[in-house]
Amino acid sequence: MEKDCLFCNIVKGDIDTEFLLETEDVVVFKDINPHAPVHLLIVPKRHIRSINDLTDADRTVVAEMLMVGKEMAAQQQVAEAGYKLLFNVEHGGGQRVFHLHLHLLAGKDW
Ligand code: 5GP
Ligand code: ZN
Repeated sequence: MEKDCLFCNIVKGDIDTEFLLETEDVVVFKDINPHAPVHLLIVPKRHIRSINDLTDADRTVVAEMLMVGKEMAAQQQVAEAGYKLLFNVEHGGGQRVFHLHLHLLAGKDW
């Protein structure tokens, strides 16, 4: 846990946020500023800054994030129509919150 990290504080429960799903390794919550009718964030409980910081030890949690993304798409009833699973990586990749997260976006015509 990083003291000044927004998503660490959400994971800890210090910022009132409803979890749509919680597993041993990840939580899922709605994006506060949605870019699509369905916009969820799949967030590891452990602080990892970005994709660039992943190590071999993180293989399990990354697989869990992708599987949860797939499962949440089904739960949100967008699996068949289609959706995006997106990582923004560092400033140049559009990342603004530096705690790893996977965006699930769906429900609009791209
Ligand atoms: P990034 O640009 O880092 O990939 O995405 C960060 C996302 O976090 C943005 O889409 C932003 O709307 C979302 N976000 C920022 N602050 C909060 C917050 O306090 N609560 C929630 N639920 N989402 C947030
Ligand atoms: Zn964090």
